[in-house]
Amino acid sequence: MISSDQFERAAEIVRTADALLITAGAGMGVDSGLPDFRGDQGFWNAYPMYKRLGIDFIGAANPAHFERDPTFGWGFYGHRTNLYRQTVPHRGFHLLQEWIDRFDFDSFVVTSNVDGQFQKAGFREDQILEVHGSIHHLQCLSPCGHAIWDNDEQIPVDFDTMRAEHVPMCRHCNHPARPNILMFGDYSWLPDRTHGQEMRFDLFLDQHQGGRIAVIEMGAGTSIPTIRYLSERVGGRNGTRVIRINPREAHIASPHISMSCGALEGLEGIAASLGD
Ligand SMILES: [Zn+2]
Repeated sequence: MISSDQFERAAEIVRTADALLITAGAGMGVDSGLPDFRGDQGFWNAYPMYKRLGIDFIGAANPAHFERDPTFGWGFYGHRTNLYRQTVPHRGFHLLQEWIDRFDFDSFVVTSNVDGQFQKAGFREDQILEVHGSIHHLQCLSPCGHAIWDNDEQIPVDFDTMRAEHVPMCRHCNHPARPNILMFGDYSWLPDRTHGQEMRFDLFLDQHQGGRIAVIEMGAGTSIPTIRYLSERVGGRNGTRVIRINPREAHIASPHISMSCGALEGLEGIAASLGD
């Protein structure tokens, strides 16, 4: 249970900020109905075929499948591509956009999610850093060059076998393509697109040096702590405050704020305290 005092304090941080930094992990998508891959059981509930094969999330998110058996590699990513295309971002995304408009914030999003949900909710492409890449972009499997292009392919998947019925191909060498996502044990991911995003993010931080940045972190767990470290690093700057929203792992040292709840519940609570 979160006290109204916590929501008030978080609202005060938002109200008095100069800029807004939104940081998000896998928990951000749960309120949109996206599966939670936390733990083997969570992953296998979403993908029963992999349970029969004894493959966990780390095993499925592995570039080796594309090398050995592209229809099987694309089974997992094709299914997720379709899922993310169908998903409607929850109201929390729109609350964040309302605050950006209302308080005239310069803003930036940093996410470890590859699902493209911030773009889908209307956030600007040039104000987003996708640290692990995006499922909506493709690259060559080899790779034969540095090209990264939009994933506009239809990739139907047989859910019983987790095999894709169509494998996207490289536009340049006609070998299989893969999503431009950083996988586990991945030595062929092309970081060029993400590096461009990082440069824009560094510029955002430079421009707000000495300013008051409100960091709202949602659903970023400790198992892959990239996003948490980033929030804490930015939170160490003078004037910056972090609001950490997480149902299980909300801890952060004062003067930052912990909220033990889901992303949507936390954002709605802050919205209620901000009033109209
Ligand atoms: Zn190629």
